[in-house]
Amino acid sequence: MIPYGRQSINQDDIDAVSAALKGDFLTTGPLVGMFEEALEGVVGAPCIAVTSGTAALHCAYAAIDLKSGDEVITPPLTFVATQATAALFGAKIVFADIKASTGNINPDLVESLISEKTKAVVAVDYAGQPADLDALRSITEKHNLYLIEDAAHSIGSYYKNRPVGSIADITTFSFFPTKNMTTAEGGAVASLDSKLLEKARLFSRQGLVRDSEQFRIRGQGLWHQEVHDFGLNYRLPDVLCALGISQLSRLSYFKSRRLEIFTHYVRRLKNIPNVILPKVDSGNDVMWHLFPVRVPPQARQNIFNSLRNAGILVQVNYLPAYRHPVFDSYNLKLGDFPVSDSYYAGEISLPIFPDLTDTQQDWIIDTFLGIMATEFPD
Ligand SMILES: *Cc1c(COP(=O)(O)O)cnc(C)c1O
Repeated sequence: MIPYGRQSINQDDIDAVSAALKGDFLTTGPLVGMFEEALEGVVGAPCIAVTSGTAALHCAYAAIDLKSGDEVITPPLTFVATQATAALFGAKIVFADIKASTGNINPDLVESLISEKTKAVVAVDYAGQPADLDALRSITEKHNLYLIEDAAHSIGSYYKNRPVGSIADITTFSFFPTKNMTTAEGGAVASLDSKLLEKARLFSRQGLVRDSEQFRIRGQGLWHQEVHDFGLNYRLPDVLCALGISQLSRLSYFKSRRLEIFTHYVRRLKNIPNVILPKVDSGNDVMWHLFPVRVPPQARQNIFNSLRNAGILVQVNYLPAYRHPVFDSYNLKLGDFPVSDSYYAGEISLPIFPDLTDTQQDWIIDTFLGIMATEFPD
């Protein structure tokens, strides 16, 4: 059985976690700050470590003071956490369709969706490819909105020579095992805006203010800490930060291995009829999280099932978020976001992860080609 994505754990990772387990802290200790600094070195902005990509998004929306009645503009082709964490603040989700070439939010569709209530535009770097951040940035600046980047897929990618994490007002990462690197569960929030990052940090640390200069209650002892805004506990423990530090040191290897696998898929599939391959936008240097192919929609289910039956655990990324029943009250209908719907209708994510061997990949490709030949005899 070959999964579509999977972690790569080596002896260094295991040693790092074991050492942390023997340390004094288990949870908040010195490794948290070390991991956050190492992350900053990769993404080009200060970071806070949190317990998941979902938590990171929740912190990002808390940092911009998202409130009931606010609107956020998001693409449909994403994992629903992009929307869920905003909706939980009472915000209304507004969907902007994607570009067929990349699966990323189409900047040309964003401006007409902006209203008095819009607070943020949220880009998702689908499959690891950065969205059109300059175009989105000029829209958000013109209308005084926040640009948030859900970079759950794209740590390690670059947009016009700038690392993902250093571009949007707030960028969020996920370290779930299938993503580009892992801490088991985990995530991070990055921002060059120290006020936004501090708000995200407080939200992730139960809102506890520890800086005496900011105290509103005076005359207490050294034990004192106080809460000005409610927060949650999204602290990533030392044990998992140890894994994160170790994984980060191999991120460039992960990237080059993912690129090799990507390139080999393209080499062998590029002239095959009935298969649309992912396309790279100019200016993007991508760390590929997914290898999304698109096949004719009427054959997608058969092809998916045949691959699964052969032991290739392909995935479909994603059911357009607006189609989840949780959005029923929005009264959106099939056809409202035709590009996302047609992307989804043919999409299959083929396996891509650093430990996939060349032999396994060639076998996946041969199996896929055999299935395609059966589906489309000429
Ligand atoms: C994985 C993912 C998330 C959520 O991350 P978790 O770490 O699983 O909570 C959010 N957005 C996108 C696009 C994702 O792929």
